[in-house]
Amino acid sequence: MTSKDRSFLPDAGLEYALELLRNVPAAAAGLPQDLPQQGIGEIASLDLLSGHVLGEATQLGSSVALAHMDPPTPWITWAMSLWNASLNQNLLHESSSPFATQAETTVIRWLAPYFGMGGGHFCAGSTIANLTGIWAARDAAGIRKVVASEVAHLSVAKACRLLGLELIEVPVDGRGRLDVNAVPDLNDACLVLTAGTTATGSIDPLELAGTARWTHVDAAWAGPLRLSGRYAHLLDGIERADSVAVSAHKWFFQPKDSAIVMFRELEAANAAIGFGSGYLAKPNIGVQSSRSAAAIPLLATLLAWGQEGVVSRLDHLMEVAQRLAIAITASPHLELWGEPETAVTVFRPTGCSIEEFLARTPTGMLSSAVVGEQLWVRSVAANPMVDIDAAIADILTAAELGQRIE
Ligand SMILES: *Cc1c(COP(=O)(O)O)cnc(C)c1O
Repeated sequence: MTSKDRSFLPDAGLEYALELLRNVPAAAAGLPQDLPQQGIGEIASLDLLSGHVLGEATQLGSSVALAHMDPPTPWITWAMSLWNASLNQNLLHESSSPFATQAETTVIRWLAPYFGMGGGHFCAGSTIANLTGIWAARDAAGIRKVVASEVAHLSVAKACRLLGLELIEVPVDGRGRLDVNAVPDLNDACLVLTAGTTATGSIDPLELAGTARWTHVDAAWAGPLRLSGRYAHLLDGIERADSVAVSAHKWFFQPKDSAIVMFRELEAANAAIGFGSGYLAKPNIGVQSSRSAAAIPLLATLLAWGQEGVVSRLDHLMEVAQRLAIAITASPHLELWGEPETAVTVFRPTGCSIEEFLARTPTGMLSSAVVGEQLWVRSVAANPMVDIDAAIADILTAAELGQRIE
């Protein structure tokens, strides 16, 4: 290889990749069983993979996608991801990521105040953000145990196991919220409150924030609602937390892996989770060492849309979930689990099994979840392009058919 290795230079093949993205071909051939001895070249690789990578993917922005917390991503983030991949900046070293570091500082400075936090950093998901917050609780505040509701995300149990902490699970009330009356002594504990549980989108009583030695709020899902004038109040109390996790690859419409962990007392937290090292100009903060410039696609999205643009989409999705709930309540063939708090609508058919019902609705429209030891149908409004009128019609038809056959 010479110093002019063209594989590392911007090539017309990139425009071809974009063309394939616009006009996805069907998969023409399978993949080799073993690592090929000789490469087929970039263009042939694009041809071979386009039908698979693009053609065999779940379309999160399709008019029926209403199943999971994974949103479609705006094209501005695709452009930034391309730039990011080409530059491959490492947030571990400020000297090798001058603007990317500034982008992260800027995005955190814009967002942290909505949560009453002093600052923080990006990480690859809220699983790591939760681990980081609970780690800071252990090493900055000396907590020995973690108290969380029994429906907290499994990443909380993972963090406890990794950190050698005892996990005390508190029952939830009929609305999936941590039961205030069942909370044990929190003196030497980290209380983890969830703002938008994964199964039902429930918000734990955030008025408990600040009553434990350390409070971590897992706002992986519902955190972005803090930007909405209409819905920010649902998360009131979060500002008294010591740490907060928010997944940007959920309701900030970012490509994976993008999340933020924030701290109220940033310096004390960073001191507890920072590692100095000879070759680093600044201590390495948090779980990851090398980190991507995930802040740049979010910076671009926030610049392009502004607060208004983010909020109009979130408010719309809250309305989508509400409209679905109203239609379910009005149907004699469906039972609503409860009013959706954060755009997760949980329900079930009354005349047939969940499996039969799901088989009668379009693939990718709905998911299921175990709630209170029973299986329910779950819908998550994360896709601004969903056709909710058509989805409601499909859901009502499937439920009615289930009733007739019974
Ligand atoms: C999705 C989710 C997580 C995990 O976040 P990832 O970004 O998928 O790692 C944690 N907590 C809650 C409540 C979630 O919904």
